[in-house]
Amino acid sequence: MLDADFFRRWMTATAASVDREADRLTALDSPIGDADHGSNLQRGFTAVVAAVEKEDPRTPGAVLVLAGRQLISTVGGASGPLYGTLLRRTGKALGDDAEVDEARLAEALRAGVDAVMQLGGAAPGDKTMIDALVPAVDALGGSFGAARTAAEQGALATTPLQARKGRASYLGERSIGHQDPGATSAALLVAALAEAAG
Ligand code: ADP
Ligand code: MG
Ligand code: MG
Repeated sequence: MLDADFFRRWMTATAASVDREADRLTALDSPIGDADHGSNLQRGFTAVVAAVEKEDPRTPGAVLVLAGRQLISTVGGASGPLYGTLLRRTGKALGDDAEVDEARLAEALRAGVDAVMQLGGAAPGDKTMIDALVPAVDALGGSFGAARTAAEQGALATTPLQARKGRASYLGERSIGHQDPGATSAALLVAALAEAAG
């Protein structure tokens, strides 16, 4: 079973990974964006970790709702409201239970990813974070490790795609040949889930 502590570890591991990879995320956002994805997420997840430490939420749902709220309020870029919605909606779907099992988390994450697609209007293949998140949720029925691999492959598979959503879509065909920064950070988020599971 997964308790509030597991979800805290997930957020802490994500923040650490975003810190380590911030330069790479920003570099990916340079040719097809505005070179701020790494710093956007660093700011956001630093605030998430600080808020979780300060407010000490006691349930899985409360950890994720708090984290989502922080991302929405501290990240100026498109990724803030989108990741914020992902975590907030996933948290709401987990309800008030003190512990949830993996199947319940997979179901809640599915609701979270659906909410991101609704908010941003992106579908799989549009070269966004969705291209890592959807395969990860599909693989989550197996294991966290399988979800991590699926997210990493989904991020790599964005390279030959033409962007249809977000800033990169302004480039049209010139967005082809570059890996999407948001799909890359989504793979970090999923990898951190596997890390929190130990
Ligand atoms: P901004 O583009 O506002 O500077 P970021 O650089 O932080 O924001 O985030 C860019 C990433 O956000 C993209 O690489 C893409 O994965 C994701 N993204 C942008 N628009 C959408 C959307 N409508 N739906 C899903 N993801 C999106
Ligand atoms: Mg950007
Ligand atoms: Mg920006």
